[in-house]
Amino acid sequence: MTACETGGTMAERLVVIGGDAAGMSAASQARNRRGPDDLRIVALEKGFHASYSACGIPYLVGGEVGGVEDLVVRRPEVFRDEQAIDLRLRSEVTEIDLDRRAVAVHDHEEGRDYWEPFDQLVVATGALPSRPGLPGADAAGVYGVQTLDDGAALLRAVEADGAERPRAATVVGGGYIGLEMAEALVRRGLSVTLVEAGEQPMGTLDPDMGALIADALRRLGVEVLLGEGVTGFSASGGRVDAVCVGNRSVRADLVVLGLGARPNTALADAAGIPVGETSGIRTDRRMRTPVEGVWAAGDCVETFHLVSHRPVAIALGTHANKQGRVVGINIGGGYASFPGVVGTAVSKICEYEVARTGLNEAEAAAAGFEFVTETVASTTRAHYYPGAREMRTKMIADRRTGRLLGAQIVGQEGAAKRIDTLALAVWHGMTVEEMTGLDLAYAPPFAPVWDPVLIAARKTAERLERLHTGG
Ligand SMILES: Cc1cc2nc3c(=O)[nH]c(=O)nc-3n(C[C@H](O)[C@H](O)[C@H](O)COP(=O)(O)OP(=O)(O)OC[C@H]3O[C@@H](n4cnc5c(N)ncnc54)[C@H](O)[C@@H]3O)c2cc1C
Repeated sequence: MTACETGGTMAERLVVIGGDAAGMSAASQARNRRGPDDLRIVALEKGFHASYSACGIPYLVGGEVGGVEDLVVRRPEVFRDEQAIDLRLRSEVTEIDLDRRAVAVHDHEEGRDYWEPFDQLVVATGALPSRPGLPGADAAGVYGVQTLDDGAALLRAVEADGAERPRAATVVGGGYIGLEMAEALVRRGLSVTLVEAGEQPMGTLDPDMGALIADALRRLGVEVLLGEGVTGFSASGGRVDAVCVGNRSVRADLVVLGLGARPNTALADAAGIPVGETSGIRTDRRMRTPVEGVWAAGDCVETFHLVSHRPVAIALGTHANKQGRVVGINIGGGYASFPGVVGTAVSKICEYEVARTGLNEAEAAAAGFEFVTETVASTTRAHYYPGAREMRTKMIADRRTGRLLGAQIVGQEGAAKRIDTLALAVWHGMTVEEMTGLDLAYAPPFAPVWDPVLIAARKTAERLERLHTGG
């Protein structure tokens, strides 16, 4: 092991690329276990902010969150002063040299380049948003939403005064980020169009459940254009004024792109750190890449789906934080592993909530399962209790064994977080029959006497029984 002199002692050198969820979790955990004399930590972040919640951007733009700084989880001074982590903002890594065991850094503040040596390296470069190579996509008024800097720019746009104030917005892409941004723009009083090339918003749900989201969006006054791709953007004076959808022109003073993201692995790839079939960096369960002393975590890695048994790249903060923690514990001398995911996600648009876990129908079929499905309509509380809201729960179960493969929920307030119970059942390979006896909490303000999860399990188990008994 090589090491450098720090304050008279030999300290190992840890360099972290990327200063958000995965990178700073790794740095903090490593520091919790090893002091500065033992481990010198340099975290390099190319943006203006570190350790922020990108997940909060829609609520910043929508006005529920006070300001940009509210989304910063831990300020740079806290890392520097309280944890002795040398966090350098505006510092972009431009190359990883594995032979030299050093990264090339461009300091955007000082305009200088230098090499930073490492013994251990953490790659936590996140994801890159998809950008359509369409005419006019670089016009002013077309926004991405990936970093806090993007969120701050959008906030300025929606809060502009007078003639600058946008009235009509188009959101391109009907995934969860597109939906959350549509809500934000509705809240700001803009007239909103959502364009989705697929046949339904929320393509991670089955079509029947996705259709409920499309209905909900329309009830909120959002114009929903499905099955049509954007072909370009028109601009006047360099500023977007319309989105071209097929032969139509949809007025837009502001466009938000929510077209998904892919692992940001260009640096790792160029250095020869292996990427997998999903194009995320390959790691083992301890988040070690195949290169000695190089770790990776967060949106830039691929992980393992515990139901399909296939590699997947799922860009979610919940995974990034856990994986970063695992890296930090392992570098710190402990033992931790990240077992994989079951594809749990939750989102909302205004009063409508949506959640999923496990496999949807298409994923279950692709993984080779034969399955049955059951969808039940119920309420979030006892039907007589004030505030009871409608919800639909869908279950997908293995036809042969009855094992729960996946579940989806669409409903109103109080519906979506029930997905956690279902995620746990998927995680532990429970059958729907076993689930019918689960000891779930009941009181009228919280659930009907048969919780929607129990009703869905019961109905699915009954369907399987009929199939197996020929009834
Ligand atoms: C609008 C929005 C809403 C979201 N909502 C949710 C949600 O509700 N729930 C959920 O679980 N997840 C959500 N996510 C996803 C979540 O934000 C990400 O999964 C999480 O931020 C990933 O953390 P990360 O550290 O892997 O990557 P990132 O947060 O992307 O951080 C990577 C960092 O690396 C830096 N970087 C990249 N390349 C270099 C380089 N060469 N040199 C130096 N620095 C570099 C980047 O500037 C960036 O700050 C949302 C994301 C967005 C954009």
